[in-house]
Amino acid sequence: MSILEIKDLHVKVKEEPEHPEILRGVNLTIKSGEIHALMGPNGNGKSTLAETIMGNPRYLVTQGDIVLDGQSILPLGVDERARAGLFLGMQYPAEISGVTNAEFIRAAINARRPEDDQVPIMQFLKDLDKTMAILKMPEDMADRYLNQGFSGGEKKRNEILQLMMVHPGLAMLDEIDSGLDIDALRIVAHGVNLMRGPEFSSLIITHYQRLLDYIVPDVVSVMKDGEIIETGGADLAKSLEKTGYEHLKVGDANA
Ligand code: ADP
Ligand code: MG
Ligand code: MG
Repeated sequence: MSILEIKDLHVKVKEEPEHPEILRGVNLTIKSGEIHALMGPNGNGKSTLAETIMGNPRYLVTQGDIVLDGQSILPLGVDERARAGLFLGMQYPAEISGVTNAEFIRAAINARRPEDDQVPIMQFLKDLDKTMAILKMPEDMADRYLNQGFSGGEKKRNEILQLMMVHPGLAMLDEIDSGLDIDALRIVAHGVNLMRGPEFSSLIITHYQRLLDYIVPDVVSVMKDGEIIETGGADLAKSLEKTGYEHLKVGDANA
């Protein structure tokens, strides 16, 4: 059991300290076993929150804290946060030439394990095969350079492959549904649902209800102007689909 607490988090872009804060006092708790959906209109700080939790050095925490199992993770770098069980699936996955997909995933797994307990290669390849089959990915994608020439949908599927192979405690998935057709969406959702269990939690960022028809969240929060303005259950996502975000105001969540 683990618990991540975002407490009154205020964040700016480090290179633009004169600009206003992007996050303006975010409070959010994610418990293991839980799927937490983060919704809200574009440009309101959702990706910034995920990047800041992961430790992207471009973002500066000016106030508040991020606490994992009672300990602030703010002093930790990205690698240490990954070893602590955090994972971020990207909205725009990077392409890397010269590193195959399989090599990248094995390195990501091993970076999270002690040096004297690296994953045996045969076991790794077996797990990789099995997981790629679940995600209906062609075998040759393991040997292609990371994300190079992958379509938008293939990149997203590849993020889920990494997720399932790495098996983090907390997976943040940023608009993993964008660019996916309905079949790919179902497969990706199936992958995430297979991860569900008492030792796994996920923060799923999306603006659409569609993904949440397949990955039913335990908690739904809505972010606007850098604050959480509403929190509820899976039914909140359904009602937002009808009403949109316009009627929600900052302060509603505390009302
Ligand atoms: P969302 O994911 O909800 O669409 P983002 O977190 O990507 O929102 O962005 C929130 C706001 O912060 C936007 O106005 C965006 O332009 C700004 N922003 C985010 N990251 C950066 C950055 N690295 N440099 C400058 N502005 C940024
Ligand atoms: Mg505030
Ligand atoms: Mg975003």
